[in-house]
Amino acid sequence: MTDIIASDKVVSLAYTLTVDGEVISEFDVNDPLEYLHGAENIIPGLERVLEGKRVGDRFSVTVPPEDAYGDYEEDDIDEIPRSEIPAIETLEEGSMVEVEDEDGYSFYATVTRITADTVVLDFNPPLAGKTLTYDVEVLGIRPATEEELEHGHVHGDDYDEDYDDYEDDEDYDDEE
Ligand code: ZN
Repeated sequence: MTDIIASDKVVSLAYTLTVDGEVISEFDVNDPLEYLHGAENIIPGLERVLEGKRVGDRFSVTVPPEDAYGDYEEDDIDEIPRSEIPAIETLEEGSMVEVEDEDGYSFYATVTRITADTVVLDFNPPLAGKTLTYDVEVLGIRPATEEELEHGHVHGDDYDEDYDDYEDDEDYDDEE
């Protein structure tokens, strides 16, 4: 096979992600990451380097924030009343929560402080402002199915149709 990574291919990877000298996530041969190339399923700095790679290729890449999760924005922090957060009693500092704005859009945030009346939420992605180092091995490349191309994501072994319907509804909402 002389398959190379290009748009509309489904790629499986083993990788280790290291941030500030600490391993943040790991996908190995037994539990690879699958993604649809060219569909912005992964950060731009990694997707760009994978273009043209072949099965068996191994490489390391260091990705600055602007090609990963963006700069850390001091303004993306909000203090809101405890009453607006469901299940507040189960939260602690460092928990992730999903909150909806008045238009019904949902956002993920990290709880950074809990006071008597309020919760301080940080809407920056957890890896915003970080430089990421990936050690990658390309494990597999296959053409995407029609359905995967239509949806813009992989339907792998863990494919959950119910969740997918939900997710695709969300995508629809985003386009409105
Ligand atoms: Zn889908």
